[in-house]
Amino acid sequence: MKDPKTWMKVLDRVFDFKDKVNTSLGRETRREWGRRMIKENWEYLNNLNVLGLKEILNEIHDNSNSGLYRDFMFAFEGRQMECRPLTFEELAHDKLSTLAATNLPSTGFNTVMSGKTDLNLFRSMSPIIETTYYLNSLRPFNWEDMLNLAFSDLERRLVFALDKFDEVEEVPEPTAEFFQKLKETRMTSEQTKELEQKIGLVLMHIGGEILGMGFEDSFEDYWPTMSLFNQFLAGCSAVQYDREEIMDEDIIRAYRTFFKLIKTDVTQYKADPELVRDMDEDNPDYGDVMVCKSCGSYYKLEPGESVDDFESCHCGGELKQVHDERS
Ligand SMILES: [Zn+2]
Repeated sequence: MKDPKTWMKVLDRVFDFKDKVNTSLGRETRREWGRRMIKENWEYLNNLNVLGLKEILNEIHDNSNSGLYRDFMFAFEGRQMECRPLTFEELAHDKLSTLAATNLPSTGFNTVMSGKTDLNLFRSMSPIIETTYYLNSLRPFNWEDMLNLAFSDLERRLVFALDKFDEVEEVPEPTAEFFQKLKETRMTSEQTKELEQKIGLVLMHIGGEILGMGFEDSFEDYWPTMSLFNQFLAGCSAVQYDREEIMDEDIIRAYRTFFKLIKTDVTQYKADPELVRDMDEDNPDYGDVMVCKSCGSYYKLEPGESVDDFESCHCGGELKQVHDERS
């Protein structure tokens, strides 16, 4: 396990040296530059007339001052597990992930260029939820934690209820149709892109300011993950309103959800006992499974069987084989 304090000290020394050189040359130090970036982007956002944006700016301000944002960043880096990872076979029990994996396009040049919602955006949900879980448990994940993280209904709540994730009683079952719509959502308006980017920039530079170091050298996964997570939620919000275009209000709703999530004790969301009934920490379930693209059901393949031996799912949907590379 790495000790953040030690390597941060080392990095800080390097940056202190660079700053000294810059100051002697009359250049802006990284800290001055970071502060200027916060100020410029903050002023830009403060002057925008977007409903709900003031509330988001207040959240950013309060969470920075209270230390929550700092703790969250450290939790992102600090989370770890002390049990085995789940196998593909086990993960296939979760319909939401199965349907996402079989219906969203995987990330490639084309999906990035088109700005559409892809599988990479979906996959940003796990690290953000894990971080929030870790922030509330502050110990390495054990087997029970791993099951809670993979098989509670929290992801479904976020996808279908967004900022009301903690209030809704019934969460809808995920469907292929939902993901078919989700993959068409995209951000094309320049104004909305600016809004999304500027909020991200403010958060990134505040992070740099809190950590007192060049943000580009550390915590490098944190900012993209947070940004992808909010883009993903914005896509989900657009689907709720039956739109393909992601609008300002979707960005606001996404960040409102994010800030609510990081203040929630998500350890209260427990694994669905039905889904994890046969799972055993000491007895991993390896093997090939088939999943249905339409309803998300999964079937275990016996040795020697392949997806070609089966015509279709009981629902009539197309079956897809998933391999477990670890087996
Ligand atoms: Zn099916």
